[in-house]
Amino acid sequence: MTAPVIVRAEAIPVSLPLARPQLMGGSQRFTHSESLVVRLETDSGLVGWGEASAAPTMTGETLPGMKLVADRVLLPVLERAPLIERATIERRLDRAIPGNSAAKCALNVALYDLLGRHYKVPVHALLGGLARTCVPVMHLLANATIDEDLDEAVRKQAEGIRLFKVKAGVKPVVDEIAMLAELRARLGPAAMLCADANTGMGLQDACDYACAAASAGLLFFEQPLPDHDLEGMIKVAQAGSTPTCADESAHDIDHIIAWQRAGAISGVNLKTIKLGGIAGLMRAAIVSGQLGLKINLACKAGESSIGTAALVHLGYTVPNLDWGITPSSQYLAKDIVRAPLRPVDGSIPVPMGDGLGVDVDETAVEHFRIAV
Ligand SMILES: [Mg+2]
Repeated sequence: MTAPVIVRAEAIPVSLPLARPQLMGGSQRFTHSESLVVRLETDSGLVGWGEASAAPTMTGETLPGMKLVADRVLLPVLERAPLIERATIERRLDRAIPGNSAAKCALNVALYDLLGRHYKVPVHALLGGLARTCVPVMHLLANATIDEDLDEAVRKQAEGIRLFKVKAGVKPVVDEIAMLAELRARLGPAAMLCADANTGMGLQDACDYACAAASAGLLFFEQPLPDHDLEGMIKVAQAGSTPTCADESAHDIDHIIAWQRAGAISGVNLKTIKLGGIAGLMRAAIVSGQLGLKINLACKAGESSIGTAALVHLGYTVPNLDWGITPSSQYLAKDIVRAPLRPVDGSIPVPMGDGLGVDVDETAVEHFRIAV
């Protein structure tokens, strides 16, 4: 049997509507999520899909920039490339242009989807098999008011969710500290709570929050300060007993190692868009485990079930999954796969179909395609 080669490769910018606007640290308000979707086709007729959310504050890449890099630099590398030589293809992609981790992520995920379809196995089998029987799903609370967050948390807990993340750095810090205590009182001791300020806090507020959060039993406090502020993050880590977590600061494995060695973090948020896709995230998860860091695997807000599927396969296969997974497709008003992946009793069942195991609706992809 001759190995299939890639004969068509397309990068498609999409804008997907969120079911509800979301607030991020610093009071940014999002109503839509922008992603680059990649469609690859082989001469054997297989089609594979990948996705990467555009997150300029996370990777420095905008959607138009990702599309341009994909069209001009990355996709030409795939022309007539033998599919089964994925690692060789990715070395060529990395040599073609430094950085651009999100654009590379969309291609990487599509390559894994295609490989799984070629070998007729799920991506988790390509990654070495299952390491656990469930992947705890974190639910994001990002409403305009604290009362809405509290009510939503109680509803989600009744659906089986055990991990909750609140947004911090949006409202006055005293209100956010009071909200944590209220949330703990409403959800009880078994719920796992964490907070993410998305770089939106000042040092004093962050230290105050870290101290106060300990009494609410906060699992971790994520990225209170700007991504370059290592000294500040060390102070937050020393301010209280709340474990600190890097997200925007954890650009790559080198940053993860440096921040761990500096004593700034107890854990790290790993995203496929920061690490270049499935292969890069797996490497980072293994290194983080060796360093004694806890990990959470996360999509950027509003990725479709393509991005969620990649995250779920990784969640089932990384060596340690201390802080669960944070998919985001459940916050979309419309998805681009026929059977969107959804949490069931606090986990997402492992997709058993070939490749990513999701069936992309090409009509929906076209519907949400935008010009950039
Ligand atoms: Mg974060």
